Amino acid sequence: MIGIMKLVRPDILSLQPYQHAAWEPSFERMHANEMPWRASDDSSTAGLNRYPEPQPDELIEHLAHLYGVAPANFLAGRGSDEGIDLLVRAFCRAGVDSVLICPPTFGMYKVSARIQGAGVVEVPLLKQRDFALDASAVLAACDKDPNIKLVFLCSPNNPTGNSLDRRDIEALCQKLANRAVVVLDEAYIEFSGAESFAGQLARYENLVVLRTLSKAYALAGARCGAVLAHADIIDVLARVITPYALPTHTVESVLKLTNDAHAAEARQRIETILKERERLTTQLSRLPSITNVWRSDSNFLLAECVDADQVLDAANAAGLIIRDPRANPALARCVRISVGTPEQNERLLKGIAALPGRAAGDAA
Ligand code: PMP
Repeated sequence: MIGIMKLVRPDILSLQPYQHAAWEPSFERMHANEMPWRASDDSSTAGLNRYPEPQPDELIEHLAHLYGVAPANFLAGRGSDEGIDLLVRAFCRAGVDSVLICPPTFGMYKVSARIQGAGVVEVPLLKQRDFALDASAVLAACDKDPNIKLVFLCSPNNPTGNSLDRRDIEALCQKLANRAVVVLDEAYIEFSGAESFAGQLARYENLVVLRTLSKAYALAGARCGAVLAHADIIDVLARVITPYALPTHTVESVLKLTNDAHAAEARQRIETILKERERLTTQLSRLPSITNVWRSDSNFLLAECVDADQVLDAANAAGLIIRDPRANPALARCVRISVGTPEQNERLLKGIAALPGRAAGDAA
């Protein structure tokens, strides 16, 4: 057993997992209490009357290859949201253990921890350094609290858009070896041009990488994400995941819509998003109602406004919804804008172009 396994909840390690119906396609099925006929308009290949294969070999091999790991290092779930939830449930004892997050960041790390009854330790990103990771403060927090089991890092980070420094991530993996799992969420990495940390899994057994098909592959509605990790960690998460997690429709659509032709389409669309991201950044920065646009490595932008309410309202008036992230104290006066089609981006720019700037004498 690898050293990091001593961090897993002991009751999960000793759990007898649910024994799902055996997957034996060469036999006709009379063992899973399913109906023997399909519904009349069921156009799926496998038949929706049948429970799906829990982690279908074909899907796992295909996606593991796509993300550059061996199938033993790969678990598919319903979006990366499910990966986050599985990790928290497998590693954090309710009322005892904690996760560490670096706000402002993706909200589900905290929500999953709260649902599990785990504590949440916050080490904010450094706004004055464009939301860089405060790696030494993360280490200091882990030194102080040995019950921090998971350190969530998001790169590029949602909602700030920036990538974290690779050296900081590596340093944390090294220094937290056998002490905490570093969960690196790469949901937006395809928009950054950076290399995934999946290649570092062999070096750091306490590293877990999250990937998703919801962004670059345009499959948010299919609900499919992945955990990439040491095989022992994958085995533990496979004990915790619900028995038939991946719906037949999900499996069939993902196999169809992530083939070579769709990978090429995704690359092309990412190129368009990157061009539009640059254009939006430049144009927004020129508007009087916008005081700052942070450089983004993602498919969205964080912008600071003279008056965020006015910008949100103007977007609505143009028929568009943009995100209000102001619940986070570091994001006062900010909005988050997903990069849209060129037409949508143009409509947004036009919608807010006429908003006033800061009146002479206003405080910055
Ligand atoms: N991680 C990050 C950083 C996200 O922004 C999101 C969704 N917005 C997710 C994970 C979850 O994505 P999904 O469950 O669709 O894979």
